[in-house]
Amino acid sequence: MLLWPKDEPWPTCPGPHVVPTETPVPPQFAAQLRMPGPEVLEGLARMVTGFAGIRTTEAGTVLLGTEIVSEPAASPLVPVAQLHAADVPDLRCPAGTDVLQVLWCPNEHPTDAPAGPPVLLKWRAASTVVDQLDAAPAPLVVSEETYLPNPCVLHPEQVTEYPWWQELPNDLGRRIRDFDDTLGYGEHGYFSVSHAPGWKVGGCPSWDITDLVPMDCPHCRQSMDILLTVDSTESGTNQAWRPVEDSHLQPSHIDPEWAAAYEPTGVSVGRHGQLRIFVCLTCPDTPIRQNLQ
Ligand SMILES: [Zn+2]
Ligand SMILES: [Zn+2]
Repeated sequence: MLLWPKDEPWPTCPGPHVVPTETPVPPQFAAQLRMPGPEVLEGLARMVTGFAGIRTTEAGTVLLGTEIVSEPAASPLVPVAQLHAADVPDLRCPAGTDVLQVLWCPNEHPTDAPAGPPVLLKWRAASTVVDQLDAAPAPLVVSEETYLPNPCVLHPEQVTEYPWWQELPNDLGRRIRDFDDTLGYGEHGYFSVSHAPGWKVGGCPSWDITDLVPMDCPHCRQSMDILLTVDSTESGTNQAWRPVEDSHLQPSHIDPEWAAAYEPTGVSVGRHGQLRIFVCLTCPDTPIRQNLQ
């Protein structure tokens, strides 16, 4: 449970949210949708809001879509992480604080694309919380199960990361890129060892999906700092960063021990990627920025 004063209002999200819809297809039309051509799909996209495909099961055929709904009441955010400065040496806290709390709304939002669930950061001084709330209020609506983290205890480990190749001097970055291109499948190069997978504080952001996107503060025009990375796996796909403690495990999604080591938080963001939260440490009023890779 987050360290939260009993008399402090719990943050909520008023919505609206994007919810999945299923429109049943009358059985006499289902056969025509088995191999739909482009014209049929275009027609369905005009008829069904947020058309996302056709699903046929023994129960029948449905058209999948999404719609935006307003909520009758604001829904409590869910706790995502709590980091104490004493446990995480790379956590740079604003003056007078020593705890970072991260919360988000476990639903899809019309404005999410492409940056994932809207995150709320709360910095506080642990010593100021005297009368503590026992449990977080449950969210009223949850459309994204993978935005509900499994309760986990952190075992932070400090590692060294190196800048994304496009953030290095041109010549050096290009030589590193060329070197990585000479490697064969399964060989570890700069790309796989310079950035650790898993949830992390600080480090160097990687830009493997979009290439480098400048994350500049609109106030001071300086590059914002990466505060936190929320990752969908702890050891990534290339296994260069597989923990020694897990080295006896063979990758297998049907092995519960492997799954617990590989995806212990149960959180998946983007297309099983990383959500990164950027802050400007110089300008406290600058809103955080989120980026998905
Ligand atoms: Zn929400
Ligand atoms: Zn700034």
